[in-house]
Amino acid sequence: MTQNRKSTGTLCVWGGEPIEMAEQATQVPVVHSVSFGYTDVDTWLQVAKGEQPGHIYSRNTNPTVKAFEDKVRLLEGAEAATSAATGMGIISSTLFALLCPGDRVVSVKDTYGGTNKLFTEFLHRYNVDVTLCDTTDHEAIEAAVAGGCRLLYLESPTNPTVKVVDIARLAAAGKRAGAIVVVDNTFATPVNQNPLELGADLVLHSATKYLGGHADALGGVVCGKNEWIEAVYHYREINGATLDPMAAYLLLRGIKTLHLRIRQQNQSALAVARFLESHPAVEQVFYPGLDSHPGHDIAAGQMRGFGGMLSFMLKENSLDAVRRLLPRLRYAHAAANLGAVETIVGPPATTSHVECSPQERACMGIPESLVRYSTGIEETADLIADLEQALAVFT
Ligand SMILES: *Cc1c(COP(=O)(O)O)cnc(C)c1O
Repeated sequence: MTQNRKSTGTLCVWGGEPIEMAEQATQVPVVHSVSFGYTDVDTWLQVAKGEQPGHIYSRNTNPTVKAFEDKVRLLEGAEAATSAATGMGIISSTLFALLCPGDRVVSVKDTYGGTNKLFTEFLHRYNVDVTLCDTTDHEAIEAAVAGGCRLLYLESPTNPTVKVVDIARLAAAGKRAGAIVVVDNTFATPVNQNPLELGADLVLHSATKYLGGHADALGGVVCGKNEWIEAVYHYREINGATLDPMAAYLLLRGIKTLHLRIRQQNQSALAVARFLESHPAVEQVFYPGLDSHPGHDIAAGQMRGFGGMLSFMLKENSLDAVRRLLPRLRYAHAAANLGAVETIVGPPATTSHVECSPQERACMGIPESLVRYSTGIEETADLIADLEQALAVFT
């Protein structure tokens, strides 16, 4: 499957939509049926064996869920896709499907909190060795991969300090070592970045965030070559972390405006980042679109837009400063989520790094006064004015 980048917006709207729908419906129906009936046992057998298209039981496959998977698959330019009930459902299914005892995983320290827990708490129980490298130390990651590795797991940009890794460079290192290269593309979205084009084998998303975009449905999806997706699908149909058809419908509807939302969020986030960088109450701004960002050149090379996620550190470096700032924001939910149409703010202490102590966060380079800012689709000027009046508490 080749994807013409110019057609991203058209794929958001039309990609994966079944051509023929019951009763001439123009919208993908929400098929709540648990099972699918066959009057002819031979047809049933053929569908069950995968020799003929169709569905048997919705823990395995479902028409609404399939339309969602197809839409994301086309947006990522992939051969195949499979989904799960949540982002963590697809991440854990991918890791447990593809890893065996004795294997080694190489990843970075700044992965999503839940992913990091899989690496530090669970995989070693199954005798899978995990090496976590400094996220921006490309030489260290390459050296770790060259030392032997079954799976290289990357994320870019990362949470919450929006670090950027060179996907093409590290995917090449993974290839040389014979590793499967997996990239979490949640922050960038397929509108801004296509890891498969950069050499990754698998790209996955927490669809809960930008793909759905409305903070009203959980979901996860992974795309890539058939052989890997088959393995992940098989594990997921057995572990049962299946995406619900109603959630699949909400995610499908959300994706229809993905390109419009991302365009707006890219533009607003850059303007907000520049405003914050010039504000006297702000110590530092983390956004890959800023020239001051250490990963700016890499991001410019592999992303078509820098995304809607940024974070900033207040001059007054305490959680108390964050406590005073957040309630003053009129146009932002203070919540543990991101990627929605509304702006969402939160400190890592209550969101991505809730399990860590202040000392641990400090060791990870996460200051207590860091505020993660997920830019919504509000008017840019209103977001900046809102931040300006809220930050006035410090002057
Ligand atoms: C939220 C998130 C996840 C986990 O997704 P859920 O849908 O909450 O399970 C994984 N990766 C990233 C980058 C995320 O932001």
